[in-house]
Amino acid sequence: MALRLAARLNCDAARPNGAAEPPGLFGAGVARGAGDAAACGEGSRCRACGMIRALEHADLHLIYPVPSGDWEKDLPAVIESRREDFFAYGEFGTRARSVGIDLVRHVIEALSKYPFEGRRSVVVVFEAHLATAEAQNALLKILEEPPSSAAIVLVTEYPDRLLPTILSRCYEVRFEPLSNERTAEILERFRSVEREEARRIAAIAQGNLRRAVKLLEERFLGLWRDAAVTARLVIDGKGKELLAEAETLARRYSREEARELLAEMSLILGFVLRGRDGRLDAAGEAVLREALGAERLGRAAERDVPEDIRKMALASESLRRNADLELTLAHLLLDLTGAWY
Ligand SMILES: [Zn+2]
Repeated sequence: MALRLAARLNCDAARPNGAAEPPGLFGAGVARGAGDAAACGEGSRCRACGMIRALEHADLHLIYPVPSGDWEKDLPAVIESRREDFFAYGEFGTRARSVGIDLVRHVIEALSKYPFEGRRSVVVVFEAHLATAEAQNALLKILEEPPSSAAIVLVTEYPDRLLPTILSRCYEVRFEPLSNERTAEILERFRSVEREEARRIAAIAQGNLRRAVKLLEERFLGLWRDAAVTARLVIDGKGKELLAEAETLARRYSREEARELLAEMSLILGFVLRGRDGRLDAAGEAVLREALGAERLGRAAERDVPEDIRKMALASESLRRNADLELTLAHLLLDLTGAWY
């Protein structure tokens, strides 16, 4: 959608009735009757859309989180990899990534120039929640006084991890999850996944395409399985095994991955909650049975799941603030079993 928006603002065919000015984002140019205001989205019809589609437009500035250090080498490498496969993921393995202050300075510099093609500069910050506090503060300054020739898009699954001051400066556009059927279709068509496997993964991904694509990867699938194993131990109340588990997980995963693991555990417990309220479809029930084992579903449903999820969110936040990985996990897991007291 961010790219569609960039195309919309720069499409040669969308200039209403040959007007000199491109249509504004929310302005009069968008009004019905102003001519063909939608982006053609086709490289064959218009150069701008083709360039945006190929991630090569001079006024399209893409920002991806990268490991700290050499962003001038890493950022172009990520963009190059996205040109080949827009849903590529994990080129930095377990290394922690962030949108640092250097990247935001890069954005500021890009925006200080008038758009090359004379229309709108569009900045898209992917995984904006990985922006450091320093970077978010710098970003806030641009959002407070954005150049009129620019549109800035922050893409995130976790808007609550952005500063409230940033959120208050943005138009928030939320997207509904995709249906399992649609997710499976996309996996089949663009990822050549077998039909049955695509449906299984779609059910686990719960309408989140990025997760679905990640679940095709061995490492993330392993992480999901570890989340399920850990959730089982929590439900069984096995304090001693959980301490060993915390140690294993801390050795196996980076801080960032451990946060993903906690997010996956929260999702599994979210399934429990929906199952209890009768809001889980058959595919979701199958995923839940696979994750926890049928014999645990009754006990899982008796838990105070919102409280569990709250505790995991707090632990995840501690990890973001560089708390010790093993200690945080051990504390959390024991806390979840009640074995701590
Ligand atoms: Zn176009």
